[in-house]
Amino acid sequence: MKRTSVLIIYTGGTIGMIQNHETGALESFNFEHLLSHVPEIRQFNLAIEAIAFETPIDSSDMTPTEWQKLVRIISENYSKYDGFVILHGTDTMAFTSSALSFMLEGLNKPVILTGSQLPIGALRTDGKSNLITAIEIAAAKRPDGSPMVSEVCVVFHDKLFRGNRVTKIDSDNFSAFDSPNYPPLATLGTEIKYNPASIGEYRKDAVLTPHEEMDTRIIIFSLFPGLRPEIVDNVLSSPDLKGILFRTFGSGNAPKNMRLIETLKSAMADGKVIVNISQCMSGYVHQERYGAGLQLADSGIVSGRDMTLEAALTKLMFLFGRGLTSERVLELMDVSLAGEVTI
Ligand code: ASP
Repeated sequence: MKRTSVLIIYTGGTIGMIQNHETGALESFNFEHLLSHVPEIRQFNLAIEAIAFETPIDSSDMTPTEWQKLVRIISENYSKYDGFVILHGTDTMAFTSSALSFMLEGLNKPVILTGSQLPIGALRTDGKSNLITAIEIAAAKRPDGSPMVSEVCVVFHDKLFRGNRVTKIDSDNFSAFDSPNYPPLATLGTEIKYNPASIGEYRKDAVLTPHEEMDTRIIIFSLFPGLRPEIVDNVLSSPDLKGILFRTFGSGNAPKNMRLIETLKSAMADGKVIVNISQCMSGYVHQERYGAGLQLADSGIVSGRDMTLEAALTKLMFLFGRGLTSERVLELMDVSLAGEVTI
């Protein structure tokens, strides 16, 4: 019988870094170095192969170009492997996992991202267990031979998360990620306990349709008491802009400031799409709950509901990248494309 196969894609991040003795700073190192620290991988009865970015990067340098590279690697190798593990820096991992969840339409194999807080060469590294668990989950099958998970996920510390529901919450602790609005797909203790209710359905006949175009003419702007509408006006009137993530208070509220509302309305009249995302880490945007939110709904701003910032941002990039009209983008922001939002 053919052995289950996993392709590891190494992009960089702390997991593979090593300390520069002169400056003391962590710098990316090559993939052989990384694997030499995890000889345990050989104990898996799996066919594991690896591919690395030519120059491993700190994930602060990730851009849609690297997402395209990942989409290409996965689609070109899709039929050869049962699952994929992406080693990635933690800082922008949630952006990459969200982006891939949209770009890999029709995915029915596991794509598991992981990384670590400490380099794999460090004595107390969390990189080893994260990598080993990610491989195990990428290879996990149900009794009928179908994959245990068939979506883009993040494995970190003690949980498996849906990729477009996760966010980095801690820059120091090993438990660096959380998924405040969606239950983990599995908890990782002495055993891996899968949570079938939160795992996306396996679609046997789904056909992978990779999308590479992302439109970055997007901006995020955050409300604060005292925000000056004339400054917002300058930014929102930019002819290059197509989508705006508007970070509001609480359940989606903004001040009753007519100048600000007029600015938002005129951006929308120009064909820009504005999405209301709360500054709160968890909860749902209910624009109709208070007058302060209702005025936004009445002006045509679409509720981001319970999407993470990362999911809402990459979804806008993806939809505009497909060349859709603003009207269609507005409609699709209100539809769950890859389990990123609760409707
Ligand atoms: N700066 C690093 C990165 O995102 C942090 C990490 O990997 O944890 O690449």
